[in-house]
Amino acid sequence: MEREVKHFSHPHLLQPSQVTESEEIHCSGCEQPLSGQAYSCTKPNCDYFFLHESCFNLPRQLCHRSHPHHPLSLLPFPAYPSGNFSCNACDQVGRAFVFHCATCQFDLHVKCAQEDGTFTTAVEVGAGVGDQWSALAAQQRRLQAARFQAEIIRDSSRAIADLAGSETPYYTTYVRRYY
Ligand SMILES: [Zn+2]
Ligand SMILES: [Zn+2]
Ligand SMILES: [Zn+2]
Ligand SMILES: [Zn+2]
Repeated sequence: MEREVKHFSHPHLLQPSQVTESEEIHCSGCEQPLSGQAYSCTKPNCDYFFLHESCFNLPRQLCHRSHPHHPLSLLPFPAYPSGNFSCNACDQVGRAFVFHCATCQFDLHVKCAQEDGTFTTAVEVGAGVGDQWSALAAQQRRLQAARFQAEIIRDSSRAIADLAGSETPYYTTYVRRYY
């Protein structure tokens, strides 16, 4: 049985769903076309909120090669009153998820942040409630590896305890400093 899950970017519960290409749906996170495994809003009157599985699992914070001095935070929508941002990587407008530095007003599309592979600098905790435990086990293995590789900003054991104890998915991020 599939279970409903909460995501920080949306007020309603989401459910796993299959999207076909012919539906011509765009992801509410990265604004790219979406087909296949996705998450969609469970409310019948809220019919346009879809996320790629990968966008659902994006880390809330990361360090990016293109902006090494500050971590970038994942915001569910642009930080500006206009409702738009201009991506510092591709110069195009964005209207959905954004990796943002408030200090510098630096913004990256999700897709642009992922483009050069620097996403590997962030290790994310969290998955659908249903596979929380398997995600936790995988995460512990990755964290053990990461400890040898890099500095981890937040206290991982406390966050893992939070994850294990929480009813709802718990999203947190371990960010390795990237120089
Ligand atoms: Zn997406
Ligand atoms: Zn909704
Ligand atoms: Zn961009
Ligand atoms: Zn900055």
